Amino acid sequence: MANILSIKGLVVEYPTLTGIVKAVDNVDLEIKEGEWISIVGESGSGKSTLAFSIIKLIPPPGLIRKGEIIYKDTTNLAAIKEDDMRHYRGKEIGMIFQDPMTSLDPLRTIGDQISEALLEHKMAENKEEALQKAKEILLEVGMPEDRINYYPHQLSGGQRQRAMIASSIILRPAILIADEPTTALDVIVQDKIMSLLEELRKEYKMTIILITHDIALASTWSDRIAVMYAGEIVEVGKTDEIIEDPLHPYTQGLIKSTPDIWSNRKLEGIPGNPPDLRNPPKGCRFHPRCPYVMDKCRQDKPGKLMINGRKASCFLLEGK
Ligand code: ATP
Ligand code: SF4
Ligand code: MG
Repeated sequence: MANILSIKGLVVEYPTLTGIVKAVDNVDLEIKEGEWISIVGESGSGKSTLAFSIIKLIPPPGLIRKGEIIYKDTTNLAAIKEDDMRHYRGKEIGMIFQDPMTSLDPLRTIGDQISEALLEHKMAENKEEALQKAKEILLEVGMPEDRINYYPHQLSGGQRQRAMIASSIILRPAILIADEPTTALDVIVQDKIMSLLEELRKEYKMTIILITHDIALASTWSDRIAVMYAGEIVEVGKTDEIIEDPLHPYTQGLIKSTPDIWSNRKLEGIPGNPPDLRNPPKGCRFHPRCPYVMDKCRQDKPGKLMINGRKASCFLLEGK
């Protein structure tokens, strides 16, 4: 499979009054056409910032400091101007945001919001045709078509999320980024939304990038998982390999701290907290929390190692 995105050496920073937050630090990630990849990590690890940088909607004063985001082997999205990015945003790359209430306009109906993009990208001749297409897309995401006349606050959380999905796929993007699309929903609705994403992926051969703190959710749906810790990707590989044989101590910790209703296994949380990204620890960023920490981990940064087709960064893996 060809790469639809090749992210190389990406650094994204937020300058703040108390220092520079390196939210994404030297990230390399290749995403294949048509795959479902999940980016997993604790709160504050830089998952949303990575997603925002792909679609170039990093909240100010955040900025891409270094690196490339190559789309379909041709265009470096990191370097193109905002005017040119408008062609890619929505049409090539769609995004479902973490909080639908902040991305849906509370003062406009769902139908108005969904049809706007069609008119803007000249995919409908007039408002009537755009509203008709909006109804069709609502049906496709499992909502009654009369919901086009509803305002966001009149919908349930699950319906709002479906409306967000409808507006993000209406232009049939090649890539759909879903940032914690189901965090606020119960598990049954969560499962339905995930199934919907999977159906859309199959039907339109979309690439899905799911951002989630929930490695169990990621493992149910994705082909591959990338694990992020403190702005860096520490491990990436096929889902079954990551879950059955996690290489990085942080991935191991994430799996051990995930509940499994089928077993009586005692949950083992990861001690401590993620670091302050204004001043991350020297050496391996996971060292203050790692059960296997060695002296050199406190001084030097482990490289990105390739182990049987998987990538991981940890001194324990050198020579394997
Ligand atoms: P969550 O799971 O809580 O959504 P996340 O993995 O998506 O977390 P990000 O939102 O990307 O993490 O944040 C990464 C880091 O960047 C955090 O340390 C956060 O405090 C910082 N950050 C995010 N947005 C800003 C901002 N606008 N200004 C300054 N720092 C920010
Ligand atoms: Fe732990 Fe050292 Fe590996 Fe970092 S490099 S994960 S501190 S063993
Ligand atoms: Mg986030």
